[in-house]
Amino acid sequence: MVKLAEWQGKVVFRKYGVPLPRGEVARSPAEAESLVRSGKVPLPCVVKAQVLAGGRGKGGAVRFANSPEEVREAASAILGLEFKGEKVRELLLEEKLPIGRELYVAMTLDRAQRLPILITSAQGGVEIESVPDAQIDRQPIDPFPGLTGYEKRRAAKVLGLSGGQARSLERVLDSLWNAFQREDAELVEINPLAIVGDALTALDAKVIIEDDAAFRHPEYAEVRDDRTELEEIAREKEIAFVQLDGNIGVIANGAGLTMATLDVLTEFGGRPGVFLDLGGTDDPKKVTEAFLLMARAKPSAVFLNIFGGITRCDTVAKGLVEAMGQVPPAERFPLVARIRGNNEAEGIEILRAAGVTAVPDLRSSAQAAVEAARGRP
Ligand code: ADP
Ligand code: MG
Repeated sequence: MVKLAEWQGKVVFRKYGVPLPRGEVARSPAEAESLVRSGKVPLPCVVKAQVLAGGRGKGGAVRFANSPEEVREAASAILGLEFKGEKVRELLLEEKLPIGRELYVAMTLDRAQRLPILITSAQGGVEIESVPDAQIDRQPIDPFPGLTGYEKRRAAKVLGLSGGQARSLERVLDSLWNAFQREDAELVEINPLAIVGDALTALDAKVIIEDDAAFRHPEYAEVRDDRTELEEIAREKEIAFVQLDGNIGVIANGAGLTMATLDVLTEFGGRPGVFLDLGGTDDPKKVTEAFLLMARAKPSAVFLNIFGGITRCDTVAKGLVEAMGQVPPAERFPLVARIRGNNEAEGIEILRAAGVTAVPDLRSSAQAAVEAARGRP
């Protein structure tokens, strides 16, 4: 996923005519101060951490300032933050607008309906996940006529807007729709869309570009560097590989089982690190590549959770033993395997013979993995 930071999302919004506060990006307290001293950003202003996580307002990563000194202070405080695991490297400074109500507007794809949807709520300014469902309105958009007057009028009604404010909303929605389509977005979200006098202004921007359309958008190439080096290699090899900050590697087959495995490990006090989803593959070459990548991440232990549905457990086990053999001795890790399905007994036998702790039961194998990782760096 190509997730844009707020300021990058606002560059996109500006291109399509979404009304925005005046703002500039700063990367140091001195730069922040000089932006207000030179008048490029008017006072009072807002200093906002440019991180991908939401909830910055509540988390102290959005601050207001009335003077150049306050701006400098706010900037250095926010630049020193690690917000939800992400170091703050950039700030967005914006004029502080006198806002009335805060609204929520977004467009995304509804996979069940296979259509884009327009989502609106009069309860903006808080995370949408915390808004009761009854206060959220969802309208499917037929992509062929595109966004029509009907949807826009209904949105205005839901948001309690009329007159000039309703017309302002219609223009915002048209801009948002164009941005959503032409940028191949997976999500465009304005939260809050604020009422400022008789007009509307987007105070926040969240834009996610559909990964599969990235080839059409070379302009987003450098945005993608939040991937780690290993994730980048995995991506080239088409291996589903994600690095978290724990120390136990997880290899499972299928997204659901992979997620469940992370949960179980966490429940037993483990901290999942890299996780790797082998999907439906038992291609020995791919399994070996996956193992080598896992080794490079230096896990304290690896928990392998394989459900042999169609594939036979003994075939999988043979492949795994072979793959392990390819890992350079200095990079080997303790391996705990839970393997279930066809020919499970034979599979377990093969793994045990190769020095793997192999257990068919999920709880005890997860505990064994947590134990194996304990005390190791
Ligand atoms: P987050 O969603 O991460 O909390 P926002 O950009 O939505 O961050 O900002 C949080 C809150 O700060 C907004 O709901 C709004 O009340 C206020 N805010 C943000 N930008 C401005 C601005 N330019 N002028 C006035 N208030 C702002
Ligand atoms: Mg917001």
